[in-house]
Amino acid sequence: MRPATTAAPAPGAAALEELGRTLEARARKLFGRSLAIREVDAGSCNGCELEIHALNNPVYDVERFGVRFVASPRHADVLLVTGPVTHNMKVALERTYAATPDPKWVVAVGDCGCGCGVFEGSYAVVGGVDKVIPVDLHIPGCPPRPTALLEGLIALMDKVAA
Ligand code: SF4
Repeated sequence: MRPATTAAPAPGAAALEELGRTLEARARKLFGRSLAIREVDAGSCNGCELEIHALNNPVYDVERFGVRFVASPRHADVLLVTGPVTHNMKVALERTYAATPDPKWVVAVGDCGCGCGVFEGSYAVVGGVDKVIPVDLHIPGCPPRPTALLEGLIALMDKVAA
């Protein structure tokens, strides 16, 4: 039997290396160390999580560029939030934001995090991430590719440095 799925296209190795090294250089210049990210699923379908998780797989392997996903908001510089924010997750997101030490930045990921995406009008959602906590950068897409996430983080570093 043939495989039922087709192989995913490999990321351009050169482009990935360039994006990763650029992000690493920006973070080192700003913080003098690695960039620490806490991922928060505020109610997504998990499609965005698959792309975010891919950043840590052996193909993308972003830890080699000094990007670390941390287990607690208390250790984070950046909250990477997927949405939409559901009523059930609103308080948890507010508490996560409050627990993140200053200076901190919030990135809304995916069409749902940026607005409501396909969940627009649902009784279960409050809205996009910026309806609950301040957002510094939006990365649209359904879901955004891992390279788009890296480009967004570089844009965030540039915004912070400006
Ligand atoms: S943007 Fe798309 S992949 Fe991400 S949570 Fe919404 S529906 Fe799912």
